[in-house]
Amino acid sequence: MFIFGSMKDRFDRLRGDFEQDLKTAKNTRDIEQLQIKFLGRKGPVQALMQDLRQISAEERPLFGKLVNELKVELEHLCEQALQAFQEADLAQRIESERIDVTLPGRQRPVGRVHPISQIMSDVLFVLRGMGFSIQIGPDIDSDYYNFEGLNFAKDHPARDMQDTFYVSQEFLLRTHTSNTQLRVMEAYRPPIRVVMPGTVYRNETITARSHVFFHQLEGMYVDKGVSMGDLLATMEEFLRKVFQMPLQIRFRPSYFPFVEPGVEVDLECISCRGKGCRLCKCSGWLEIAGAGMIHPEVLRNGGIDPEEYSGYAWGMGFERLALLRWGIPDIRMFAENDLRFLSQF
Ligand SMILES: [Zn+2]
Repeated sequence: MFIFGSMKDRFDRLRGDFEQDLKTAKNTRDIEQLQIKFLGRKGPVQALMQDLRQISAEERPLFGKLVNELKVELEHLCEQALQAFQEADLAQRIESERIDVTLPGRQRPVGRVHPISQIMSDVLFVLRGMGFSIQIGPDIDSDYYNFEGLNFAKDHPARDMQDTFYVSQEFLLRTHTSNTQLRVMEAYRPPIRVVMPGTVYRNETITARSHVFFHQLEGMYVDKGVSMGDLLATMEEFLRKVFQMPLQIRFRPSYFPFVEPGVEVDLECISCRGKGCRLCKCSGWLEIAGAGMIHPEVLRNGGIDPEEYSGYAWGMGFERLALLRWGIPDIRMFAENDLRFLSQF
């Protein structure tokens, strides 16, 4: 009876301590600590279990039952408190993460297509409509494809380090999109009707009129009986479609190593329509492209018999077209990424 009596005291004290701690618990961590403190292996409930051995055989079942009930009760209280804290935590988290779906969305600035990309896309659209397919050549190419195979003599000034960015003895940054001509001839049999757009590089001083990189389009048509008349007709139709107005063109004799004969293509001034203005320096004409009949030697280098086939080629700069189309005064603007400029297109 004595032991049972003192056990009863321990029960009451234990429950009192537990309730006190439970009241001061502030979060799930406190409850977990509480669980360990009272119900853990070194806790008072476990100690009561141990002490059952000291009780007489008659009292043991009753006492055992009481200890068990206490254990279950404390466990239950802990579970309840734990759940209450978890629910409160969740509610708080939901509140803190609440999104007001009725708020107006944030405006994001929409990007624009770069003017060079725009004109490139327009020009290629026109040319594809005229039956030209598109071929892309490499930016870094060998001396052969950029110069030698295109009939540039070993001592041609264009090969000078002053004008060309050499990557190594043999390789360079292409100085024109003409480097793709021979690659296309090697890969396809006539009739060949392709355009080859891309970036080209020149070791030049950057000014309003020239830059170290710019964009070109190379056009080429090889078949039986292709003539200068075909070139003229193609250029005329093509430029008319790009500028969306009927414009005169004219050829002026010129020299490029990979064509024979070679011509400069002039377009009737789009601003004054031939009367003479500042844009055309009062001449009424705008230089727009270099062109000519592909040199027989170049055809031969491409594996095409010049006795059987002939072809024309032309090259023009996209920057030049964009300058004319939008009246842009300075070529450097295309490369400066100034949003005040770019957002106008
Ligand atoms: Zn003019």
